[in-house]
Amino acid sequence: MARIALEGMRFFARHGYYKEEQLCGGEYEVDVYLDVRVDKAAINDDLRQTVNYETIYLVCKLAMKKPAKLIETVAERIALGIKNQFGFINEMTVRVRKLNPPLEGPVSCAYVEVDGKFSKRCARCGKPMLCYGDSSCWCMDVPAFKGTLEHLKSEFGNQCLCKECIGFYVGV
Ligand SMILES: [Zn+2]
Ligand SMILES: [Zn+2]
Repeated sequence: MARIALEGMRFFARHGYYKEEQLCGGEYEVDVYLDVRVDKAAINDDLRQTVNYETIYLVCKLAMKKPAKLIETVAERIALGIKNQFGFINEMTVRVRKLNPPLEGPVSCAYVEVDGKFSKRCARCGKPMLCYGDSSCWCMDVPAFKGTLEHLKSEFGNQCLCKECIGFYVGV
């Protein structure tokens, strides 16, 4: 497992609940930590991209650009953007810091952190796998799997299956 991180990405942005915050804007700092499994077994054939810093930075820059009422929203945006860009992340932490928040006294920062753990074992074959809890896995009630959904549910509850095992049931 390798940890890939970008710390202290600085942005000026106009997030905030109050009009003044939106008008004046403020300084923000973003940290992103990714745990990536480098051994082949855990990486599906179709997920061959490599994590590059520039892409992480661009995802953060984009998420910061669009004003949001809450920094939670911004952190979630970044997490989602990173999941969309890289298909082989085991664990992820995204931290968004608002520097010098407007409070009564001096406060260096207020931050929100979102975490995700995506490594699992396939309920059928036991192979290590990743599931982002999105439409790539049947655990999200994907319509494409509707025909076999009942059958899968009775056999595996709501546990995830790897691509090969889904293929076995869906017939692809
Ligand atoms: Zn499997
Ligand atoms: Zn799943």
